[in-house]
Amino acid sequence: MNVRIIGSGSIWTKNNSACYLIDGKIMVDFPNGACKYLYRFNIDPGSINHVLLTHFHGDHYFDMPFYILNKSKSENKDGTIYCSKEGKTKITKICNLAFPNSFKKPHNSLNLKYNFNENFKVEDYEVQKLLVLHGNMKPAYGYIFSKDNQSIGFTGDTSLCSNIERMSEKCKYLFCDCTFLKGTSKHLGIDNLQYLSTKYPNCTFVVSHLEDETREKLKELKIKNVIIPDDGQIISL
Ligand SMILES: [Zn+2]
Ligand SMILES: [Zn+2]
Repeated sequence: MNVRIIGSGSIWTKNNSACYLIDGKIMVDFPNGACKYLYRFNIDPGSINHVLLTHFHGDHYFDMPFYILNKSKSENKDGTIYCSKEGKTKITKICNLAFPNSFKKPHNSLNLKYNFNENFKVEDYEVQKLLVLHGNMKPAYGYIFSKDNQSIGFTGDTSLCSNIERMSEKCKYLFCDCTFLKGTSKHLGIDNLQYLSTKYPNCTFVVSHLEDETREKLKELKIKNVIIPDDGQIISL
């Protein structure tokens, strides 16, 4: 698997909002500005065939109108969106807000599908969708991609919960929230990462959704199995 960190920051930083591109075709989350971020890395948003959304906060899905509109202008009209059941209504609503009275035609020109299942296949990966705890935002999900007995996880926004421990145990790499110095009921913090990286030494944690002071502190701490990526960094697994 080839993972490009398109965004590694929380909203209130100069870094792009957290999202990842897998093998050039699969996006995990599609935040505010995602199309622009992709263009800056010379990636055409129209080349993306699969979008997996972790939850419906704006910094995780607000560029979906631009993705869909871009797709309608692209030769590649196929797209599948994986999310919770209310996703279709939410995405349709923001698309109509973004382009009143002119969205239906481009939207209908696409072969756009929604997948709300817990387990599904994306390209060559078996994917499992797991509930995580993110304050009052319910549901919020993480995803585990598995292929050839290797599993890679993506937490989305989450606090420390049993499924985060399951993901840490199962995955060789876990791309995870680490927003704050200290974990809260909404986000993981450095204290949680210290606990997880010690308890699950076989997992490498690639932290994301970082506030600036968290990034600085993590760099000082130099935890062995924690990677602090920059926007645009490619991690080949
Ligand atoms: Zn969130
Ligand atoms: Zn967020």
